[in-house]
Amino acid sequence: MKTCLVVDDSKVIRKVARHILETLDFQVSEAGDGRDALDQCQAATPDVVLLDWNMPVMTGMEFLKALGEVDLPRRPKVVFCTTESGIGHIKAAIEAGADEYVMKPFDRDTLASKLQIVGLA
Ligand SMILES: [Mg+2]
Repeated sequence: MKTCLVVDDSKVIRKVARHILETLDFQVSEAGDGRDALDQCQAATPDVVLLDWNMPVMTGMEFLKALGEVDLPRRPKVVFCTTESGIGHIKAAIEAGADEYVMKPFDRDTLASKLQIVGLA
């Protein structure tokens, strides 16, 4: 089964994303900030990380940088989530190592197509 780590400080968004991903046959785990996500990636690297930008403790951007510096058996794909107002972040996130991005609020079809682009659907 494909695995996805949903990283977002909003419990509601994690819940929505989990629901969508489970209908797409992903095994889902959740993290509330980048630090928690990095720890989970080191314990068991998921196939893909769905990554929020604004989070306490460690932001999505800080997570991307840290992920590039830790030694993992393989690199997870990273789909970065942004809002209309955060559209300027896309270029920076891609440069920092994100593979794709999805605009919030996302629906099942949008998320499925992004996962397909990164080779996971
Ligand atoms: Mg957030």
